[in-house]
Amino acid sequence: MDIKYYCQNSQCKTVQKKTYVLKLNLDDVMDEKNIAQMYCPHCKTELKKQLPTSD
Ligand SMILES: [Zn+2]
Repeated sequence: MDIKYYCQNSQCKTVQKKTYVLKLNLDDVMDEKNIAQMYCPHCKTELKKQLPTSD
């Protein structure tokens, strides 16, 4: 099972031409609650599990 984290920065989306998505394999992570906060490698915005609101 995969879990996905999305960059919430609409400017980043514009530059990258798509929303940055980080996929993690839950089997590797073991415990979702123990995942450290992650950031977009492009814009350093916090990644969140919900899709960013469209603009
Ligand atoms: Zn970003």
